[in-house]
Amino acid sequence: MDIKAIDKEYVANTYARFPVQIVSGKGSLVWDETGKEYIDMGSGIGVTAFGIADEQWQKAVIDQIGKVQHMSNLYYTEPCAKLAQLLCQKSGMKKVFFCNSGAEANETAIKAARKYSAEKKGNVCDTIITLINSFHGRTLTTLAATGQDHFHELFTPLTPGFVHVAAGDVAGLKETIANNKIAGIMIECVQGEGGVIPLSPGFAKELAAYLKEQDILLMVDEVQTGNGRSGKMYAYMNYGLQPDVVSTAKGLAGGLPMGATLLGEKVKDVFSYGDHGSTFGGNPVAASAALSVVERLTDEFLADVTRKSELIRSLLEGADGIESISGLGLMIGLKTVRPAAEVVAACMENGVLCLTAKDKVRLLPALNIPDELLIRACDVIKAACNI
Ligand code: PLP
Repeated sequence: MDIKAIDKEYVANTYARFPVQIVSGKGSLVWDETGKEYIDMGSGIGVTAFGIADEQWQKAVIDQIGKVQHMSNLYYTEPCAKLAQLLCQKSGMKKVFFCNSGAEANETAIKAARKYSAEKKGNVCDTIITLINSFHGRTLTTLAATGQDHFHELFTPLTPGFVHVAAGDVAGLKETIANNKIAGIMIECVQGEGGVIPLSPGFAKELAAYLKEQDILLMVDEVQTGNGRSGKMYAYMNYGLQPDVVSTAKGLAGGLPMGATLLGEKVKDVFSYGDHGSTFGGNPVAASAALSVVERLTDEFLADVTRKSELIRSLLEGADGIESISGLGLMIGLKTVRPAAEVVAACMENGVLCLTAKDKVRLLPALNIPDELLIRACDVIKAACNI
């Protein structure tokens, strides 16, 4: 059976797939249909936080499947309540809304900001600021939030009520706030899809102080940066920020679809019954999977994520063909002399799966990837960069 041919014929053409069919994996190793082994430096774009078929994760999922696989949100379930509690304890946020994806978590954040603002300042204060070069999702509203015009083309009209400012432009931010009725601002601490570009700490600090002064909500999109990826539970913690709203997904449930919007003190009770919902949100299997991930994100574990990040940097810094390294924790961008797509193809040929983000090679390995695999992968990446 030619799976690639069937896929090409029947699956919508939205993904430029690599010419590889993955059939199994264990930890940070995966195998294709011919039995070829690869070191996985992409973890499903930052999703399989503890690698493929992680035993603790599997046990949590299988145990819960044997109890109850789904129950309507009209009833209480233990994994959902416990996960919300744990996320709040680890973040200082107050309440959680669960959903299924990053885009849905961002939609929830935007609804929270609009309702908070409508109740506090009147209906006119509905505009959301996002940053140029940001990425916030593919639904029509999160596309409108995404500050990259090329994603918008042919999908207009998008949801109105979004304006974009350049990261680092404090004067532009203040002017935009003065000239619009702003409900909130949504930022990524590291622009992932935008090319693994961290926000400057000075800008983050000024932005947070000004928003506080103006009573404008700070929303941080932690879909890619969250759940330990940055070396802290959430990337905003590296910047000393305390957001009003945090959206997250990807690595949260270690490979099952789950998004979450964490609501801070100001907005913890913004939603009333019927304001929002999601049939699968807080699903007990996904929530059990997430508990098995989040419980393990201890300070000690997160310090090891930072150490692994430093290990990668020390192995790749100054290597021939690598111009610069950007990112935070295990979210790393390599500016290479050779086009990124060529480097990724050469790595794949030699048994290492990497990603791209704009003109960068992007590395998002599992948070527990063994050093030995990291060292082997970096050798392959270095060779692919050095032509
Ligand atoms: N926000 C950020 C920062 C992302 O990186 C992504 C996906 O890459 C999204 C939102 C959208 O997430 P999803 O694909 O789960 O809807």
